[in-house]
Amino acid sequence: MAKYKPYNYAQDMFIPVSLKDQLMPGSLEYAIHTLVDERMDMSLFDEKFSNDDTGRKAYDPRILLKVVLMGYSRGLTSSRKIEQACHENVVFMALSCCQHPDHSTISTFVSSMKDEILPLFGDVLLICEELKLLGGTHFALDGCKLSCNASPRWSRTISELRQKRIKLEERVKDLLKEQEDEDHKDSSGNRSYSEKQIDKLKKQADRIETWLNNNGERLGVRGKEIKSNMTDNESSKMVTSNGTIQGYNSQALVDSKHQIIVHADVFGTGQDTDIIPPIVDGAKENMEKTGFSEDYFKGKILTADTGYHSRMNIQKCIDEGIDAYIPDKNFRKRDPRFNSRKGRSVRTHYGLKDFQYDEENDKYICPQGKRLRLNVKKCKATGNIYKRYVAESNDCSQCPVKHKCIYGNGCGPKLLMVPIGFEGNNLTKLMIEKIESDKGRKIYSQRMAIVEPVFANIRTHKHLDRFTLRGKGKVNIQWLLFCMVHNIGKIATYGYA
Ligand code: SF4
Repeated sequence: MAKYKPYNYAQDMFIPVSLKDQLMPGSLEYAIHTLVDERMDMSLFDEKFSNDDTGRKAYDPRILLKVVLMGYSRGLTSSRKIEQACHENVVFMALSCCQHPDHSTISTFVSSMKDEILPLFGDVLLICEELKLLGGTHFALDGCKLSCNASPRWSRTISELRQKRIKLEERVKDLLKEQEDEDHKDSSGNRSYSEKQIDKLKKQADRIETWLNNNGERLGVRGKEIKSNMTDNESSKMVTSNGTIQGYNSQALVDSKHQIIVHADVFGTGQDTDIIPPIVDGAKENMEKTGFSEDYFKGKILTADTGYHSRMNIQKCIDEGIDAYIPDKNFRKRDPRFNSRKGRSVRTHYGLKDFQYDEENDKYICPQGKRLRLNVKKCKATGNIYKRYVAESNDCSQCPVKHKCIYGNGCGPKLLMVPIGFEGNNLTKLMIEKIESDKGRKIYSQRMAIVEPVFANIRTHKHLDRFTLRGKGKVNIQWLLFCMVHNIGKIATYGYA
């Protein structure tokens, strides 16, 4: 017969806990505790309180910041979960000195840090610099798109919202009419549509109307209208590898030595083509506050992936004297090492290579043996200079392979663009030449190892998969807090160690 150890729930146990002993030197909690208490300027919060003579005593912002940072480091973005941890987890108890701030105090504290968050981020950066964690030679920029606390259901253009309001009002009218008819037929008072449902639809229509009265069209980078969102109009619909989300594009500029984040910001746009100017300006401001000159980034290397390749981004780097390496979208295609890569896209349409040049007559012969005559000697597009050849309309309209031929002028004849040079100040050409060199490829190959682990740490280790707040200002606070925790982790591992 099996024998088990006996047990008894009717017994008492006393566990002596020294709060200080829970914060072991070398641990992240110790780094958070020490930095917040000794190195961060928390007097910034003092002027928010006017309870010196009257009023209840507030929770010390140090306690709140410590539990929030600890919570974020463990993937607890919800203020309710942080509150719960202050009751149940001994590390949180040690950091909060057994105080139990409730979830609304925690969430109000985070949301209201608009003016304090950047100085606090700068304090941590200054400590990184003092501990020589910043290399200051090579910086890599990257971003990730994260959902925020906004409903994609309420993302529409202004005209679509007007339509929606009209439909809702019509639906309310129909329901009221149906109700009236049913009342005539059945006097028992049983209605198939409840008052609640009609009220709900009325409220939705009123909400849209109020919103439309207070907001106008939202314009994108190119000046065209983009979809507005009624719950968070600063967020955007973005396409990610996991589908379309309503959220923010979170960016971080990372130093190569110990992967310290020197600047972070969120943007309500899915494109990275205009991100570098605000990021560089923000990073310059941070470094100036850390005691560096305003030319800190002059001569420094900046690497970013193909999504950042744009005239605006490259021009900003040139203006600031930054040695930037930002490849164009054909960078991988030109790299022979990727020729045998699985899944590489297969060419489905004819290209210039499939057309033969007739030098004598300055004409091209297409794969069907038809001639394309010279149409324009010099035309410019996307910084390149082309010669344009055109096929005969009759040839192309009856051609059996027109669906896989080069793109044409609408339904008209096919146009063959033959590149003959670049415009004088073609930034793409200059960047291609720079990045295709041995030095360029070597420098650019370091980008992934510098910046990708930072996002892996924040998203996978610290479990940031969505922002819990609404509005660019508040979402930015949350993103900067996560980046701050990342930097404090580096201080705990490499700095104090
Ligand atoms: S579509 Fe026109 S240019 Fe293309 S292969 Fe046919 S005839 Fe030639």
